[in-house]
Amino acid sequence: PRVRDIMNRQVISITEDEEIRVAAKRLLRGETNHLPVLDGNGMLVGIITTYDVSKAVVTDGRLRQVKDIMTRNVIKTTPDEPVDVAAQKLEQNNISALPVVDATNRVVGILSAIDLGKLFGGRR
Ligand code: SAM
Repeated sequence: PRVRDIMNRQVISITEDEEIRVAAKRLLRGETNHLPVLDGNGMLVGIITTYDVSKAVVTDGRLRQVKDIMTRNVIKTTPDEPVDVAAQKLEQNNISALPVVDATNRVVGILSAIDLGKLFGGRR
């Protein structure tokens, strides 16, 4: 199977100029632990997780915006990539989700370790 067969198309994202508090609220809704970060043109420029928000609280209270704390070097995948290649990216980088981008770096889905788990055991 390919990434497109199991990716989640309902992506919850955030823009880089938003305040960290907005990201925290979105993460607290519990539907995702990974927010792809978009610039004003809708391009993927980073990713932010509960880990990053927690770290910001502990290390530097002056950090205000998503762009101050996001991870800029995003490890991502494409709809056509075989799922085993995507799974290796998760494993090798100790992360649990990959934004899925099209040829113009727009986010078309998100692939999480949970989605990969559905390939086994028949859970839906
Ligand atoms: N073991 C911890 C955990 O499970 O949350 C840390 C894992 S991971 C190293 C945490 C960091 O990975 C965060 O700073 C987050 O922004 C980053 N991260 C998560 N998904 C990523 C991705 N697809 N590409 C790049 N960085 C990512």
